[in-house]
Amino acid sequence: MPLHIHDTLRREKRLFTPRDASRVSLYVCGPTVYDYAHIGNARPPVVFDVLVRLLRRTYGADHVIYARNVTDVDDKINQKAAREGVPISEVTARYEAAYLADMALLNVSPPDIAPHVTDYIPAIVDQIQAIIDAGCAYAAEGHVLFDVSSYKNYGALSGRNLDDMIAGARVEVAPYKKNPHDFVLWKPSKADEPSWPSPWGEGRPGWHIECSAMIEQTLGLPIDIHGGGIDLVFPHHENEIAQGVCAHGHAHGDQAHDEYARYWMHNGFLTVDAEKMSKSIGNVLLLHDLVQAMPGEVVRWALLSAHYRQPLDWNQSLLDQSKKSLDRLYGALHRSSGIEALDLDPPADFLKSIEDDLNTPGAMASLFALSSEIERGMTAGDLDAVAQARGRLIACASILGVLQADPAAWLEGDVSDDLRVEVDSLLEQRAAARAAKDWPEADRIRDRLNELNVVVMDGPDGATWRMKG
Ligand code: AMP
Ligand code: ZN
Repeated sequence: MPLHIHDTLRREKRLFTPRDASRVSLYVCGPTVYDYAHIGNARPPVVFDVLVRLLRRTYGADHVIYARNVTDVDDKINQKAAREGVPISEVTARYEAAYLADMALLNVSPPDIAPHVTDYIPAIVDQIQAIIDAGCAYAAEGHVLFDVSSYKNYGALSGRNLDDMIAGARVEVAPYKKNPHDFVLWKPSKADEPSWPSPWGEGRPGWHIECSAMIEQTLGLPIDIHGGGIDLVFPHHENEIAQGVCAHGHAHGDQAHDEYARYWMHNGFLTVDAEKMSKSIGNVLLLHDLVQAMPGEVVRWALLSAHYRQPLDWNQSLLDQSKKSLDRLYGALHRSSGIEALDLDPPADFLKSIEDDLNTPGAMASLFALSSEIERGMTAGDLDAVAQARGRLIACASILGVLQADPAAWLEGDVSDDLRVEVDSLLEQRAAARAAKDWPEADRIRDRLNELNVVVMDGPDGATWRMKG
């Protein structure tokens, strides 16, 4: 089955056909670098990393272009820098570096392009000017505002109707706005805030215009796929479409939204122990802490264990299950490590799941089936079957971005250095005792390993070990 994607705009699963199969383009809204990312923020980059891996496999690695931006202009960044008394660039560099290091631990491949807002101010100013020229934005009191009433399809992505929105508006409206829903494209900066020159005065861009300007500059319009978390549908992505379309003078066309992104994908929200993460509850889990406490692949597996559009509850049992699942798969790879894997494609059932709007839970079931095939083949001594199943398992794992560690190292696991040294030394003594046919000594060492909860596996290349459990 070729790839089908649930498109938020059309509210249905659609066959994915790129505009140009030699250049499939994808944009995902990236982090605002003012603090460590929380575990919910890790869901989009992991989900879209699977999509990118699948697209690269389908269209060829050189025919996919993936951009994920870095928002390095933001009030929260300014506040953090002021609080710490350090330059803004120090804050943004620190949290971007941490983000990238944590992403690497999740096996998230870097995007092809990571545009920073601060590098695209002239492009942003140009796009704002184009929107004004098209009659869809106006300057007032140092601000530039998008005139939502000028764009015929405003509200199409989120399913909101402008008249209802206006009727429901209770917020205090800034005096320079013609319509309460007009949103900022450019705003003046205070003395201590970063600012750039523009035809409307010194200032800085609004949040939404960053993405539409960087998309146009880095990927070109229309892009094939635009992704992000479900909370971005309104207003961020609704506003991106309005800007991107109107900058090209298509405000009144019926299908005008097609001029911007051809498929819209949004992941569902992650909760922690069935509650929304919030600073006031004190249940915000930082990705940075989680990847110190456990292997990044466990975090990745947990994030992919529910379908991306569904909510995902993060809790201890999810983590235990994820660790157990990976242990089982690594166990099969380890047990069959002497047998060379064939270079094969993933099996049809795996592709059917993953191409069905990224059904990762279904795809994971195929991995378990393959690990069972490996175990059966090993038991039956059917080495051809093992070589095949290993090859298919490895092919599936490279699309999901898991099983990238050395199986022996994985199974030895989270063991303290002291224990590792002791076990390695016991194994050496055991090998020496066996070579000398000193069976009482070999037994004594085995008992000691048992006490340490260590399982020894003798293989063709010597003994390896893992913790019981
Ligand atoms: P932010 O830094 O808040 O703009 O968020 C970065 C990305 O994480 C956006 O795509 C958000 O939609 C997404 N996101 C934020 N919170 C969650 C959550 N609890 N669950 C899933 N995705 C989230
Ligand atoms: Zn964005």
